[in-house]
Amino acid sequence: MKLTVVGCSGSFPSAESACSSYLVEADGFRLLLDMGNGALGELQRHIGLYDLDAIFLSHLHADHCIDMCGYFVARYYRHEGGRCDALPVYAPEGAEQRLTTAYADTPSPSSMSEVFDFRTLGSDTFELGPFTIRTEKVCHPVEAYGIRVEHGGRSLAYSGDTGVCEELHALADGVDLFLCEASFTHGKEDIPELHLNGREAGAHAARAGVGRLVLTHIPPWTDGERNLADARAVYGGPAELAKSGAVYEV
Ligand SMILES: [Zn+2]
Ligand SMILES: [Zn+2]
Repeated sequence: MKLTVVGCSGSFPSAESACSSYLVEADGFRLLLDMGNGALGELQRHIGLYDLDAIFLSHLHADHCIDMCGYFVARYYRHEGGRCDALPVYAPEGAEQRLTTAYADTPSPSSMSEVFDFRTLGSDTFELGPFTIRTEKVCHPVEAYGIRVEHGGRSLAYSGDTGVCEELHALADGVDLFLCEASFTHGKEDIPELHLNGREAGAHAARAGVGRLVLTHIPPWTDGERNLADARAVYGGPAELAKSGAVYEV
């Protein structure tokens, strides 16, 4: 599998990166994990506008899904003639209505579904193109999911947004690459069931025995290097900060 960091800034974009969005490719199939603020522009650095095969939206906070409104325009009013086919979009319940409201003036209440095939997420295992997917509900103030993607004996997991939870451990168990949020700073913010700090991300990685830890969703006001040091204090494997444009062969 090939993993490309399209955007990795937490909560709002930074000068260096769009918000959460990660492209996973294998056997010519392209799955996008989240499409936060600014991701649609960055995505076009890596693939064509219409090259996606499926989208996973971890939850409906704007920093994970709001560029779907722009992508609706691109697919609905396609200049090359005709609307695009409905692209599978795996998202929590209510995604279509939420995005339609955010867009504010779609031609009809069902316009989104003409170009997006919304499929409601649950804690589940299913096949998607060449991938075996497992999704688990994680711990966040709104319905939110983490995802595990497997292909050809390799695996990666993406936390989405979550506090400490057993479901995240199950998703990450033994993966080759763990893309884990670390929004908070150990010893600074202490709000339960919202986000992880670097130390908690490292502890999840150590317990799950992952091959590589990539910390992501670090907001512009948070010191990423400190979070990385906190993660390394409890996780002995290779660990680094996600960077916009970074590519991993998993
Ligand atoms: Zn977020
Ligand atoms: Zn969130």
